[in-house]
Order: sequence, then C-alpha cells, then structure tokens
Amino acid sequence: MSVSGPCEICTVREVRHTCNRCAMLVCDRHYNDEIGYCVECTAEVGRVREGTDEDNLPDGVDTYRF
Ligand SMILES: [Zn+2]
Ligand SMILES: [Zn+2]
Repeated sequence: MSVSGPCEICTVREVRHTCNRCAMLVCDRHYNDEIGYCVECTAEVGRVREGTDEDNLPDGVDTYRF
C-alpha cells in the first residue's frame, strides 16, 4: 500500500490511514486505531460506545491456526 501526501487535518504529517467512515486521509496522530476512524469521526461517534461486537476479539484466547 502506498498512500502519500499530507494529512488532511494537520496538513503536516504524512498520511498513514484512511478513515473508514468519511474516507479522509489522515496521519497516525489523527487516526483512531481502535475503531478505524479519523479523529473527527471519532469525536462524533465517541459517545456511542455500545454495540462494538464486530472485530472485537477477546484477548488471551489461544486461537492460533497455521
Ligand atoms: Zn494529522
Ligand atoms: Zn472520518
């Protein structure tokens, strides 16, 4: 993957992620790894913290397959 260009929020740092909600290109600092949103979308949905049952794998479970 090769995304290049400046973050659309700070316009300074290099783009590292694409928001899964608004598709904005943002840097590491303006991206929320947990939910895959930019900080702006994170702020909007931040208060809604329920129903996070997708991609929510519990830690400490030995499910290694090769
Ligand atoms: Zn940024
Ligand atoms: Zn966003």
